[in-house]
Amino acid sequence: MKPAQKLIAGNWKMHGLRASVDELDAVIAKLPPGVDVSIHPPLTLLALFAERAGDAVIIGAQDVAPGAFGARTGDVSAAMLVDAGARAVIVGHSERRHYHCEACALIRTKAEAARAAGLLTILCVGESESERLAGEALAVIEAQLACALPRGPGPAIAVAYEPIWAVGTGVTPTMVEIAEVHAAIRRVVPVDTRILYGGSVKAANAAEILGVPNVDGALVGGASLVAAEFLAVIAAGARAAR
Ligand code: PEP
Repeated sequence: MKPAQKLIAGNWKMHGLRASVDELDAVIAKLPPGVDVSIHPPLTLLALFAERAGDAVIIGAQDVAPGAFGARTGDVSAAMLVDAGARAVIVGHSERRHYHCEACALIRTKAEAARAAGLLTILCVGESESERLAGEALAVIEAQLACALPRGPGPAIAVAYEPIWAVGTGVTPTMVEIAEVHAAIRRVVPVDTRILYGGSVKAANAAEILGVPNVDGALVGGASLVAAEFLAVIAAGARAAR
């Protein structure tokens, strides 16, 4: 069974310096019960945030290397993330696919390495604007899942539906479109999988999006950087689970 509580995940991308720990403290100070929260700061802040957060908030990474150790300059393995205090990781984010040319076979090996290390793995999928306009959104997402979902038994993962055209743009799909994609994802993922929506989630639209069937949480970029805005999304997640 998937957890009843929503998961609200904050992806800080390449934002944040040590002073940003104040935002983490501000989130922890006002966390409501009944919702799971993860924050994914840049790697440089991972250990600091994990120490500060304790059990209050899950601290996670934004990417992981496949494999445990080796001659991979610049890479950080799942074992290293766990050692630094991470409990979760995002894999296959559209920005990694685009800027780092990550293909789905690599994303699957990353997801499998993360899951094997005990990290809560948030696997991102989503169509481009041209794919949606061509009526190919569901087919694209199903193909991404068929290729990138980790194989074999292991702890539950989360899948984040992130239409590329909605990430960082302020534009969101209609609730009907979100419901349609989440229902399609639900049909092909294990029952214990939480399905998050990501793409321009903010305080003003979180309640509506989190009320859509099969939306088990949100992956939040820009709106997770400021504690007050992120707390409003978290509060919507807590209310939606009741
Ligand atoms: C993201 O970074 O995964 C994301 C959804 O960004 P934003 O909320 O800014 O669209």
